[in-house]
Amino acid sequence: MPKKNLLYMSAQDCNGKLVTAAFAEKGASYSCPICNGVMTLCKSGNIGPGSRRPYFRHKALSSNCTPEGVLHHTFKMMLAETLENSIQNGEPFEVKWTCKFCGEEHVANLLKVVRKVEVEKDLVVCQPDILLLTAEEKPIFAIEVVVSHGPEPKVLEYYKKNRIALYQINICSEDDLVDVSERAKLPVVFDFCSKIPRCKQCGSYFEEEHLAIVDWQCYKCHENFKAAVILIGLGRKNEPYDVVTPKNFSENEMLLAKSKGVIIEKRYSKTMNESYFANICPHCKSMVGDYFISDELFNLVYDLQAKKECGVKTYRIGYYCHTCNTFVPSKE
Ligand SMILES: [Zn+2]
Ligand SMILES: [Zn+2]
Ligand SMILES: [Zn+2]
Ligand SMILES: [Zn+2]
Repeated sequence: MPKKNLLYMSAQDCNGKLVTAAFAEKGASYSCPICNGVMTLCKSGNIGPGSRRPYFRHKALSSNCTPEGVLHHTFKMMLAETLENSIQNGEPFEVKWTCKFCGEEHVANLLKVVRKVEVEKDLVVCQPDILLLTAEEKPIFAIEVVVSHGPEPKVLEYYKKNRIALYQINICSEDDLVDVSERAKLPVVFDFCSKIPRCKQCGSYFEEEHLAIVDWQCYKCHENFKAAVILIGLGRKNEPYDVVTPKNFSENEMLLAKSKGVIIEKRYSKTMNESYFANICPHCKSMVGDYFISDELFNLVYDLQAKKECGVKTYRIGYYCHTCNTFVPSKE
């Protein structure tokens, strides 16, 4: 959210070039990039603590012009220019984000396959602030510079459907204009993963599937043994992963679990009134009910996602697509 009493911190010079007040000269003529109105530079001449920062003032304020609008416009145009220059000079633009698909922190060159920058390109459904396209003119990233409100759900839907990754930067004050390039390298949202592959059928990111071997204590004899479950989406942020119990293991998953020292057998459960494959205590041969293990694992969710020690060992076994309900085993 923007601060109250945001000031106009940028304007166009007589060549149409955007300048911030800190670098503007007194006496030169300036206009507003939004309403084209004449602007004057207000600069006290004093520097140091307590002195007011330089800013611009409209000669006559038009009703549809706001400092937020000018801040947004300035940041967007300055960033587009930076990106264009980087592409022309073959320089990387290294960005950093926490991935919502795999949970890891990624650092990557945003411009690796980008060859074109478009500002406010009309995509009918929306008009991204900056659209980044490949050499084949395929749009891949949509940069949204957000001062007050983020993109609407229908826009997000459109991006998802067309496999355009949203890159959102939130800005709130004139401080964000000091170094637009550095500021833009830390997005709040980047719907892109440089690690996990995407489903060939629907284009959405797969989720990783892990076989988890859990140190389990038998409810009956209190001895410890190893139990197995499959976890889908371990990297999800702020939401729990899905737990698959041996009941729904494939034959290969069953074999893998057994190779890790887990005993799985088909048993009859009174609670469920059916027979299903379950983890078995090797000491007293009692079974671990599906409810117990799913419940217990939910308590371990945070430790496991934070990669803390918690008596659970995980092995990646493949990828799962939620949309198509398909599983692709890992090749390794
Ligand atoms: Zn204006
Ligand atoms: Zn990732
Ligand atoms: Zn799919
Ligand atoms: Zn036991």
